[in-house]
Amino acid sequence: MADYRAPVHDIRFALDLVGLADVMAWPDFAAIDASSIDDMLGEFGRFSAEVLAPLDRVGDTVGSRHDPDTDAVTTPPGFRDAYQRYVEAGWGSVPADPAYGGGGFPWMVGLAMQEMQTSANMAFTLCTLLTQGAIDALEHHGSEIQRETYLAHMVAGEWTGTMNLTEPEAGSDVGALRTRAVPQADGSWRVFGQKIFITYGEHDMVDNIVHLVLARTPDAPPGTKGISLFLVPKFVLDADGKPGARNDVRCASLEHKLGIHASPTCVMLYGDAGEGAVGELVGEINGGMRAMFTMMNNARLSVGVQGLAVAERAYQDAVAYALERVQGKVVVPEAGSTIVGHADVRRMLLTMRSSIDALRALCYLNAAELDRSRHHLDEHTRSRAQERADLLTPLSKAWGTDVGVEVASTALQVFGGMGYVEETGIAQRLRDVRITPIYEGTNAIQALDLIGRKLPMRGGAVIDDLLSEIEETAEGLAADGLIEMGTALAAAVGATREATDWLLTRTDPVDAMTGATPYLRMLATTVGGWLLARQALAVQPEAPDDPWAAAKLISARWFAEQILPAVGALTGPVTAGKDRAFALDPSQFASR
Ligand SMILES: Cc1cc2nc3c(=O)[nH]c(=O)nc-3n(C[C@H](O)[C@H](O)[C@H](O)COP(=O)(O)OP(=O)(O)OC[C@H]3O[C@@H](n4cnc5c(N)ncnc54)[C@H](O)[C@@H]3O)c2cc1C
Repeated sequence: MADYRAPVHDIRFALDLVGLADVMAWPDFAAIDASSIDDMLGEFGRFSAEVLAPLDRVGDTVGSRHDPDTDAVTTPPGFRDAYQRYVEAGWGSVPADPAYGGGGFPWMVGLAMQEMQTSANMAFTLCTLLTQGAIDALEHHGSEIQRETYLAHMVAGEWTGTMNLTEPEAGSDVGALRTRAVPQADGSWRVFGQKIFITYGEHDMVDNIVHLVLARTPDAPPGTKGISLFLVPKFVLDADGKPGARNDVRCASLEHKLGIHASPTCVMLYGDAGEGAVGELVGEINGGMRAMFTMMNNARLSVGVQGLAVAERAYQDAVAYALERVQGKVVVPEAGSTIVGHADVRRMLLTMRSSIDALRALCYLNAAELDRSRHHLDEHTRSRAQERADLLTPLSKAWGTDVGVEVASTALQVFGGMGYVEETGIAQRLRDVRITPIYEGTNAIQALDLIGRKLPMRGGAVIDDLLSEIEETAEGLAADGLIEMGTALAAAVGATREATDWLLTRTDPVDAMTGATPYLRMLATTVGGWLLARQALAVQPEAPDDPWAAAKLISARWFAEQILPAVGALTGPVTAGKDRAFALDPSQFASR
């Protein structure tokens, strides 16, 4: 298997394409020297490649282990040490708020680091990713005391965080959860219940774990309106703020999974010993969903980046194999004597490469909008940016993870039969990335969020603004000599506008729901085509003399010619309505 090489130059290019220079000009980032970003990305790329990537295989083969006698969870050999090095170097704190010891870098830079870390070792990175989500929730919804007590330790990486939503009867329908929180005379709470599938719910890399747990208070209204958020530490803090007595929370078992074997997926029991797990309310009673959404929005973008990151790694593996495997007579001898000389292998490699370029630009644009929504001086600009970020988040998550799975599967295909045997390692990429369309809200839930909450924002004006910008780019492409790309983009955005109007004017919501998933792909592919058209415009002047720029231009052209035309074909599936989908009685699915 090829060693991971962090694509720092490509990452820096994508950051610039979506406006890093603009972001760095705002006062909140005045203290950061732009050249330090290059140094940091380069240094972290090396750390990811040299420290984390070599542990990816042992993570897969050994995995995390649970001891049923002590409920302790042991991470694979080398993980503890690597985590210690990650903490000592302060990598986790780069994008965090300086008030809690963070480096204060833009989120888009933090996300680029997440990409490299995940490419190197997705299972390891889940620990720091969940901690980041918990930091966000506490920063926005925790009390001053909670922020002061917990955040600095979490930003430094001394303590990690978890997200506890899922229960056996409450998966996509979070509102069905039953975990209880009971108030105590001293103002604290006791939490009772079972959570399942909790990522890094227990492990051996830190002194304390800060669990954020959704639960119901007595007499809470049913559904999502009656959910509150609680902070439950593994060790209750003593008077000095240090981890003290063991809390009544334990990991009962680990799931045996298809992939990410090093990431412990825990069944967590709260209050199992009888007295209840000591917890603190975060935010308002019944305000849990709001707090959770803060955490989830960032986490959804990060999960989209997981799709991107695994796709990048799988692409690198596939390229290395294609350049060394000799098989069959190549049709164009000057194209290489190995399988890279076959037309279909080229099709696979270019499809992977251009999809990765489009996805990287989408995820970083999403992050740039989040940065703009938090740091821009003008309030109107901040609120417009928040809307754009809200619109893009389900695209990043669902399209990002679908493309991640497709690219990993295509990479495996490049290996032929050797792809299907474990020792080449490419199968691990597909097994690892397969979870990403499922967790953090399944991709069906993302599509429903897109059509139900995001398209109607500001009476449809938010999506209209985006489509108008894409139309403008499409019109301008001809003037720059990119006529075919302009035609392809104009056709895609035209079809997307038509489908959007159809969805926004449905009176029966089930008609719209039936078309939600193909619509998400349609819009995301069009946005991807738009961003690659901007990529083509940016590299075109250098392309004749610079092989890297020439390859970027080919990647954009490939996307416009091979992938963008699929958008038009989605009009039918989006606008078909519910009749066919609901034509069968449930029993007819089983009858043959
Ligand atoms: C490895 C792993 C790690 C995880 N980590 C965490 C974690 O750290 N914290 C945590 O809280 N949870 C975690 N989860 C749980 C994960 O978020 C859920 O599995 C996910 O939300 C789906 O819920 P479910 O499994 O109950 O599936 P279900 O909700 O039962 O869904 C089954 C199918 O029905 C579809 N479906 C359900 N409802 C609808 C609807 N309204 N409209 C259309 N389709 C629908 C789904 O899309 C899916 O295809 C993790 C899961 C795994 C496997």
